Amino acid sequence: MMSINEQIRQIDIDSLKIVYYPDPRLRQISAPLEVVDEAVRRLAEKMLQLMFASRGVGLAAPQVGIAGRLFVASPTSDPADRQIYVNPQIVSVEGGQEGEEGCLSFPGINCKIKRPNVAIIRAMNLNGEVFEQFGQGLAARIYLHEIDHLDGKLLVDRMGSVAKLANRKLLRELEDDFAKSTA
Ligand code: ZN
Repeated sequence: MMSINEQIRQIDIDSLKIVYYPDPRLRQISAPLEVVDEAVRRLAEKMLQLMFASRGVGLAAPQVGIAGRLFVASPTSDPADRQIYVNPQIVSVEGGQEGEEGCLSFPGINCKIKRPNVAIIRAMNLNGEVFEQFGQGLAARIYLHEIDHLDGKLLVDRMGSVAKLANRKLLRELEDDFAKSTA
């Protein structure tokens, strides 16, 4: 079995695309990266490009089909606020919030999701340095949503029954599109 770093070195980064629910690659449990090398830096750059092109505020590696613990974010969607998180971990969470949440792997879907209001996370940057970050409101929501992706957890798992019902048609369309694409 190839290590996640070897896999990243071998893929054609330029050909990466965002994968959509219910692609099974979104359900993989991602492996920690062992090193931050040039291939990881190129992958992060490509993920930022895809995220900004889709007007997203966060994108995790499984969303481009790679089961490695890495996500990129920009809570303001401003490229100046871009951030990269390697092997992120939740240090602590506090409080609660309920707000609209979307996901680039669920195009067209937005629903109310409950999350903690504060999240402190620890991760490595592209220089391999460990840092901690405090997130509140939207930032906390992004961190927790993206770390969910690394554990194979998706928006649809966090939806309440009302949100699921309200989005039933869109979810089914995504499932049909995926079935067609693999037929
Ligand atoms: Zn997502």
